[in-house]
Amino acid sequence: MTLKIENHQLVGDLVSHRSTPNCGGIMAPSYLIFHYTAGRSTESSVESLCTRKAQGNASAHVVLGRDGRIVQLAPFNVVTWHAGVSQWAGLVGLNSHSIGIEMDNAGLLKKVGSQYQAWFAKVYPDDEVTLAAHRNGGPVSPWHTYTEAQIERSVELADLLVEHYGLQDILGHEDIPPGRKTDPGPAFPLAAVRSRVIGREQDEPPRYVVTASSLNIRKGPDASFDRVAAALKSGSEVLLLEARDRWSLVEVVADPEIEGWVSNAYIAPSTGRGMALPRFTVAGPASTDPTIAVAKLKKGGKGKKARRHAP
Ligand SMILES: [Zn+2]
Repeated sequence: MTLKIENHQLVGDLVSHRSTPNCGGIMAPSYLIFHYTAGRSTESSVESLCTRKAQGNASAHVVLGRDGRIVQLAPFNVVTWHAGVSQWAGLVGLNSHSIGIEMDNAGLLKKVGSQYQAWFAKVYPDDEVTLAAHRNGGPVSPWHTYTEAQIERSVELADLLVEHYGLQDILGHEDIPPGRKTDPGPAFPLAAVRSRVIGREQDEPPRYVVTASSLNIRKGPDASFDRVAAALKSGSEVLLLEARDRWSLVEVVADPEIEGWVSNAYIAPSTGRGMALPRFTVAGPASTDPTIAVAKLKKGGKGKKARRHAP
């Protein structure tokens, strides 16, 4: 089963197209974001994502069915509405920077008597239920499982998109605050999918550039930590080792001995070819102290691989 992209549209087996009116302008995607539909079926989700409503319009680039089929709703270079209010690594409003994949999955279930039910009252058999706590918190809960065909197809699709568009990373909707979403949830092996795709695409972590005129690099992810070295100058390149909501652990490309935490508000993804993306600004506490501290962290045998999903 081969899959390819022609003029920002998927071509291949088990691929079909619909056109959603819920979309914006042209963009150059940097991220791939996985979601679950919390819906009843691929058809019902496609219908919903292609419908203009009085409010709460939503869409995505692709709906991925439980049998592995793909329905594309918009070209990959057009903004769709899947991420909502969101931020990641200094970018605000991920809709304008990402490709959204909605996977047909009922999402968080609830136990009613001895049965597991979706919010729309459909009952799912025990073998389609994963009991797990969400990594964002909360109790052990029942989640609708993903199928093998769906997971395999998600890897194939992610592989193609990351390569074709040079995407920086693969995220879950649950990763990008402040929404605190729960999708794709613990039933989806996001870390494994990510490492299968990114792991073979990238020999080194994603490259970012400093956008502040002077950026402190600190011992820990907070302005209260000491500085590890002199402030980084605008345009300095860093490797992103671990990203959190407001701070990221980075290594300075020009001096790999320098490793520390910087505010996400003052770094932006580099294309990997030394060309920075447009500058961005972020309001809020993270932006109050661009000159954060600096401290050299011990490098005790740590790998160079990005560790965004730290245990
Ligand atoms: Zn979502």
